[in-house]
Amino acid sequence: MDLQLTGKLALVSGSTAGIGFSIAQALAREGARVIVNGRTEAAVEHAVAQLRSASGSTAAEGFAGDLSTAEAAEDLARRFPDVEILVNNLGIFEPKPFEEIPDADWLRFFDVNVLSGVRLARLYLPAMRRRNWGRVIFISSESALQIPAEMIHYGMTKTAQLAVSRGLAEAVAGTGITVNSVLPGPTRSRGVGDFVDALAKAEGKSAEAVEQEFFLKMRPSSLIRRFASTEEVASLVAYVASPLASATTGAALRVDGGVLRSAV
Ligand code: NAD
Repeated sequence: MDLQLTGKLALVSGSTAGIGFSIAQALAREGARVIVNGRTEAAVEHAVAQLRSASGSTAAEGFAGDLSTAEAAEDLARRFPDVEILVNNLGIFEPKPFEEIPDADWLRFFDVNVLSGVRLARLYLPAMRRRNWGRVIFISSESALQIPAEMIHYGMTKTAQLAVSRGLAEAVAGTGITVNSVLPGPTRSRGVGDFVDALAKAEGKSAEAVEQEFFLKMRPSSLIRRFASTEEVASLVAYVASPLASATTGAALRVDGGVLRSAV
């Protein structure tokens, strides 16, 4: 299937590693021009080089900046005003008992996971409206609907993304712009891989044993009973970004390995 993405300009926030990098790669392979983002020049340069060699595309560019800040978002929009596909992927997680989550963490999680995407959508929407075409995709999580007791602040931000995404889809009704959220389940990204490896080391177990235990105890409803790969998540995002997905908007689309038990 040709996703008809050739020449489209896409930005993926937080894309030097993990799910974001795989999304950038999937879009580049489909011919899109992709802007890769991370916080340091070195990480961004490395990811752009990796992307160019893996996708055979020379159209990858980089933007180093912390997109949880307004300054970086505005700087990005000045440098790349014509983004047509905005993938708000940037997100952080940290298991912490509720009683130990201070105000500062609640605010930081909101800034990084929610406000970063809100700002970018606000900056890029006027040009999308002028063009009467655009894609805004929020990378939320199954945790938006199944709030993890071990990181309620993270769950709060992922639910908030669903609200923003649906509201924005309503606000652009009748245009060629679509707004959706994608809900990955447990996915072996760099962040999750590091977390599993650290846990395995601390408990003197193999990473495989930790993975098995995780699905047995923490996510027993998973139907695939393993972490998804970042590429599996990226495939869905690439489709949603495509002109072919023009009737899919205002939706919360799952790539969660069946973790969420309800059928809809
Ligand atoms: P990751 O930690 O593997 O990668 C995150 C990327 O973002 C890295 O490139 C990192 O350098 C970059 N980054 C972090 N803070 C940044 C900032 N302030 N500014 C710019 N770049 C920054 O993350 P991941 O696991 O791939 O998660 C990506 C998204 O997917 C997140 O929104 C996360 O909530 C969501 N998600 C992940 C999983 C999972 O199991 N991995 C499940 C559901 C949803």
